[in-house]
Amino acid sequence: MTTPSAAVVLPPLREVIARHGLAASKALGQNFLLDGQLLDRIARVPGLLDEQRVYEVGPGPGGLTRALLKAGATVTAVERDRRCLPALAELGDAYPGRLTVIDDDALAIDEAALMGPGAHIASNLPYNVGTALLVRWLTIEPWPPFWASLTLMFQKEVAERIVAAPDTSAYGRLSVLAQFRSTATLAFAVHRSAFVPPPKVTSAIVHLVPAAQPAGVSMRTVERLTAAAFGQRRKMLRQSLKSVPGAVEALVGLGIDPTRRAETLPVADFVALARVLDGASA
Ligand code: SAM
Repeated sequence: MTTPSAAVVLPPLREVIARHGLAASKALGQNFLLDGQLLDRIARVPGLLDEQRVYEVGPGPGGLTRALLKAGATVTAVERDRRCLPALAELGDAYPGRLTVIDDDALAIDEAALMGPGAHIASNLPYNVGTALLVRWLTIEPWPPFWASLTLMFQKEVAERIVAAPDTSAYGRLSVLAQFRSTATLAFAVHRSAFVPPPKVTSAIVHLVPAAQPAGVSMRTVERLTAAAFGQRRKMLRQSLKSVPGAVEALVGLGIDPTRRAETLPVADFVALARVLDGASA
């Protein structure tokens, strides 16, 4: 057990932001969360965090970081905005040995090597890099990945794409990648008024847990198929999949009507197609 954290008394986040002059930067995708109850609720999404290691992208003034530490986690956080470092150092002092802050760009970090296996990832992601990071964590090799779970804030529209079912307008490449690699759920929506400053749209927390991978199917082939199929989502599959050698023949061989469009194909069909292609090239 980590030392009970209830004894730690921290100044209000508004005071921390004012004292360190952390006016939100639009370029850095800064929309801060200040509501302690909401932050605790986000920190509960991964499950019990006592003694767990958590990787956080973009701690900013440290709202979510506080909640993760309070839940008993040891946190490694990467923040690009140097203005936030003194505020995070104060937080680290309040939880000795439990917070490491890395002054860098999350896109430039090898977080798998940094964290090692079994780490949870939790982040109120900067919107400009959120999808890129999610795709990176979903397509990482080898599998199972270093992360035990992802708890991530997205614009609600992106969250809905991640968990979308076929035959809906939200269903696309991101849905197939996420649902092939993980069990993905939309935990809850977060109203724009919860952020300072409020973003233009509603946000939502998504929770992803790695799924076991079916034998004989490579991530690379699933990626190639989804890129081709959804790159031209309005076209029939017999047209959009032409760029992937053998894909149209595989479609016909599996009894899938080649006049269908990508958005009607369930994840299992993309997996079956990938298995045929990988089998043919083995
Ligand atoms: N976690 C804080 C919260 O919930 O209030 C801040 C969230 S804010 C949406 C996103 C944070 O990510 C900002 O602090 C921003 O400076 C940081 N950030 C933006 N781009 C980044 C990058 N490429 N690498 C690391 N941090 C980044």
